[in-house]
Amino acid sequence: MFGGDEKLESIYKEVTDRNPGEAEFHQAVGEVLSSLSPVFAKYPEFCDYKIIERLCEPDRQIIFRVLWEDEKGELHINRGFRVQFNNALGPYKGGLRFHPSVYLGTVKFLGFEQIFKNALTGMPLGGAKGGSDFDPHGKTDREIMNFCRRFMTELYQYLGDETDVPAGDIGVGSREIGYLFGQYKRLTHRFEAGVITGKRLNWGGSKVRTEATGYGLVYLMDEMLKDHKKSFDGMKVTISGSGNVAIYAAEKVIQLGGKVIAMSDSNGVIHDESGINVETIKQIKEVERKRIKEYAKFHETAAYYDGGNIWKIETDIALPCATENEITGRDAETLVKNGVIAVGEGANMPTTFEGIKVFLDAGILFAPAKAANAGGVATSALEMVQNGRHDVWTFEYTDKRLKEIMKDIYKNCSGTAEEYGKPGNLIMGANVAAFIKVATAMVDQGIV
Ligand code: NDP
Repeated sequence: MFGGDEKLESIYKEVTDRNPGEAEFHQAVGEVLSSLSPVFAKYPEFCDYKIIERLCEPDRQIIFRVLWEDEKGELHINRGFRVQFNNALGPYKGGLRFHPSVYLGTVKFLGFEQIFKNALTGMPLGGAKGGSDFDPHGKTDREIMNFCRRFMTELYQYLGDETDVPAGDIGVGSREIGYLFGQYKRLTHRFEAGVITGKRLNWGGSKVRTEATGYGLVYLMDEMLKDHKKSFDGMKVTISGSGNVAIYAAEKVIQLGGKVIAMSDSNGVIHDESGINVETIKQIKEVERKRIKEYAKFHETAAYYDGGNIWKIETDIALPCATENEITGRDAETLVKNGVIAVGEGANMPTTFEGIKVFLDAGILFAPAKAANAGGVATSALEMVQNGRHDVWTFEYTDKRLKEIMKDIYKNCSGTAEEYGKPGNLIMGANVAAFIKVATAMVDQGIV
C-alpha cells in the first residue's frame, strides 16, 4: 500500500489498531499516507516532530447525548459529535452531518480530510467535522428545530469565531444552520456571525455559498479539462445525488455547455438523454423536499429507476456528489468500459481504493475530493471575512474569488504532482501540497 515504506506501514498499523472499527477513517488516512513517502525523504524534520502521528490523533473528540421531543411529545435520544482535528493554520472549520449512518468513524474520516482540503484553499482554516445520527427525513420543521436547539445547547461551549466554526453537510442546510445559530445566540447573548457559515443571506450569509461546492467542483474540472485540450461543451455528464452539491454542479455544467443526463437520490436514479432540467430538480428537492422520482412526472423524456445504479449509464464525465464509497471498483470498470474521460469527486471520498486504481490505471482524468470540493469551505472562509468586516460582497465578486481559488488549487495540485514525479496525478499533488503546508506550520509552532 505504501510502496514498501516501513515507517508509513507501521504508522498506518498503529492508526488502525488505535481506532478499531472505523473503516472510513482508516481509508482516509491510508489514502493520504500512500502519497507521502517522497515528502519524508525531502523533509526529515517531519519525522522528528512526529507530524503524521500527531495529525492522525485529533486534538479533541467531543461526544454527547442529544435528547429531543417530537411533535407528539415522544422523547428521542441521538448522539452528537464534534471532532476538532488540527488548528495549525486557523480556527477549526468543517461541517455538520445529520444522517442515521453517522458514527465516530464517519466524523473522523471527514475531519481528517478537512485538514488537508482547508489547507489547499489557501485560507487560514484548521480542520474539524461534526454531526449526529439524527435522521432529518420525514421530520417536521418544528422537530428539526427542537433537535438543532438541543444539539447546540451541548456544542456551543466548544465553538467561537476564532475557535471552531461549523457549517452544513449532508442533512444540514440553511434551515438547520439558522436554528443552530439562533440557539448559539440565545445561549451566549452574542450575535457572533462568524461562528457558523452557510447562513441565509438576510442575516450574515455570503452570496455564492449555496452554489459554492458544486460550482467550485465544475470550475476545477474545467481547468483540468482545458489543461488537456478538452471542455464541458457538448459533454454528457452524470451526477449522483440531488442535494446541495449535485444541484449546483448540474447548474454550472449546463452553463458551460454540458448536458446532465442522470441524477439520483438514495432511492433511485432519473435518466434523461435530452438533458435534465435543473430548475425542476430544485423545485422538487429544495422547495418541496420530495424524492427525485417526482421528476419523471414533469418530463416525459425522463425514466426513473427505483434502486438503479447511476454508474451503469454511459457518460463522458462522472461527478459523484452523494456520499462516500459510492463508486466501487466494479462501477469504475463499467464507467471506463463505457468511455468516461474524467471523474470529479464532489462528495467526500466517493470512490473506493479499488475504484481509484481502475481510473488511474486507465489514464482517466481524476480530481480527488480534497481539491475538487474545496470550493464550499473556501466560500465559507469568504463568508467569515465578510462577517469580520461587517461587509457584504456582490455575487459576481464572490464568484470571481471562488473561481480564482479553484484555479489556484488545480495549479498547486498539478504542479506538486509534477514536482514529485507523478505528473497528472492530482491525488498525489493534493495530498503532498496540503500536507507540507500543515506540517510546516506545525513545525513552526513547536511541540504543542
Ligand atoms: P445533501 O444532504 O444536500 O444531499 C446529499 C445527496 O446525496 C442527497 O441527494 C441524498 O439522497 C444523497 N445521499 C446521501 N447519502 C446517501 C447514501 N448513503 N446513498 C445514496 N445517496 C445518498 O448533502 P450535500 O450535497 O451537502 O453533500 C453531498 C456530499 O458532498 C457529501 O459527501 C458531503 O460531505 C460533500 N460535501 C458537501 C459540501 C457542502 O458544501 N454541502 C462541501 C464539501 C463536501 P437522499 O435525499 O435520498 O438522502
